[in-house]
Amino acid sequence: METHGRTPSRRTLLRSGAYLGAAAAGLTTAATTPARADARRDRAAVAYPPTHWIPASTSNYRVSSRPTAYPIDFVVIHVTQETFPDAMKIFQDPAKQVSAHYMVASADGYIGQFVREKDVAWHAGNRDYNNRSIGIEHEGWVDKPEYFTDELYASSAALTAAVCDRYGVPKTRAHIIGHSEVPNADHTDPGKYWDWDRYIDLVKAA
Ligand SMILES: [Zn+2]
Repeated sequence: METHGRTPSRRTLLRSGAYLGAAAAGLTTAATTPARADARRDRAAVAYPPTHWIPASTSNYRVSSRPTAYPIDFVVIHVTQETFPDAMKIFQDPAKQVSAHYMVASADGYIGQFVREKDVAWHAGNRDYNNRSIGIEHEGWVDKPEYFTDELYASSAALTAAVCDRYGVPKTRAHIIGHSEVPNADHTDPGKYWDWDRYIDLVKAA
């Protein structure tokens, strides 16, 4: 995603983190008590690293049966250009027609999952790449490297490593790509401040 919203103050960001913590506490109860029959389907929600299920509007993604319907070949890295709560509202708004599988919060590395990995999220602006990828949004702005915290990198790298392990995606830059690297992408995220060397090293070490 790369819409151009208002830039929040650091104070707003910290309040967002507190809000998310409360949201997580509420969501955790539901997420940890799935019916036994649903346990396998919900595996992504309880796998390492911890993720929190915050479903996107069903109008904002396409139900599928990956990796049977399509192989998963890529992880696409995004920066939101929004706060986490604002991006969350966008994913939940059926008029927006956008989503990502995951979003990582800047302050503490909290991970929300919005779309099941088996389903096709609409994040890459390219149907073929959407079909064959997992999209991970990162709270922040491409021109504000202070949002790319140690916590965000560590949490996201653990998530990407888990995705790669689940589907046999090589942990290389050929398969872990930026939105800007999707063919015909008109977006610049994650931008020049995203530390790819550091990120790939963290993914490989996770
Ligand atoms: Zn993007």
